[in-house]
Amino acid sequence: MLAYTYVKDGEFELLEKPKPRILNPRDAIVRVTLGSICTSDLHIKHGSVPRAVPGITVGHEMVGIVEEVGEAVTSVSRGDRVAVNVETFCGECFFCKRGYVNNCTDPDGGWALGCRIDGGQAEYVRVPYADQGLSRIPDSVTDEQALFVGDILATGFWATRISDITEDDTVLIIGAGPTGICTLLCVMLKHPKKIIVCEKSAARRRFVQEHYPEVVVIAPWECNEYVIDNSDRGGADVVIEVAGSEDSFRMAWYCARPNATVTIVALYDRPQELPLPEMYGKNLTFKTGGVDGCDCAEILRLIEAGKIDTTPLITHRYPLCDIAEAYRIFENRLDGVIKVAITNE
Ligand SMILES: [Zn+2]
Ligand SMILES: [Zn+2]
Repeated sequence: MLAYTYVKDGEFELLEKPKPRILNPRDAIVRVTLGSICTSDLHIKHGSVPRAVPGITVGHEMVGIVEEVGEAVTSVSRGDRVAVNVETFCGECFFCKRGYVNNCTDPDGGWALGCRIDGGQAEYVRVPYADQGLSRIPDSVTDEQALFVGDILATGFWATRISDITEDDTVLIIGAGPTGICTLLCVMLKHPKKIIVCEKSAARRRFVQEHYPEVVVIAPWECNEYVIDNSDRGGADVVIEVAGSEDSFRMAWYCARPNATVTIVALYDRPQELPLPEMYGKNLTFKTGGVDGCDCAEILRLIEAGKIDTTPLITHRYPLCDIAEAYRIFENRLDGVIKVAITNE
């Protein structure tokens, strides 16, 4: 089968590899029908994910059809259409039982697919702990509608869940890339009083404005002043930082009102400064982490009910044989791309 592979630093290549096999009774083999490219794949390509193992098949955003299940798998069977979870988790350890599945203590726990074990920019993928890692897609939900459930939508859903948003809140979301927009969609379900989205790219600001006219969209250079002046309590009640750019961490705590919650979703390239003397008395609560992606079934129900629609994010479509071109477009942000879908049929 064809598999897009992390050959070495800076180099991915579409290679012919053997089809994966069941290695553990809890595994499933999924025929990938639709995949996508994530910014994390680019981090692997450029060597900023030291855990990534050269030779692995990349890709951790995908949906497909179950081809084969190990004998211990109970929740899915051959022929089921499924969304694949970015996180591998056992469901049984201390962390899994509390919903902190990103911290699963299994050797393959956390983000393993397409990083430490073969992922899904391929024709087939082996999914460990298939009962945890696969969610059945309702019949009325298309592959494109379900494509982001296991990764960026799971991230937005989790970030929203831990941010404890109320209907009286002003929520600031920093960053309107694909994950920022998924976060926005989940925040909108909480009906806060006001949502402000801060984004550097004019094209992405236009996209948010066009699709979600009820949201206030601003540029980073106006963010501090706008948020302080336009919230009821001298700053945002909740800040969700999804940008991970040069100044976005500072902006996140600066724009927060005293006793606000600041949720950090972003993956930074460098350490960030926590200037405690300057923050003294703001009494902020910071929440951080890698996504605890264990809400996929609920997210699929929300999609089925028409409450979340991420299909406008898919701006480009390529067959697997043209995946290198898809990477070129995505990586260089050409042609107004937000997300690409990699088709396999
Ligand atoms: Zn990702
Ligand atoms: Zn676990």
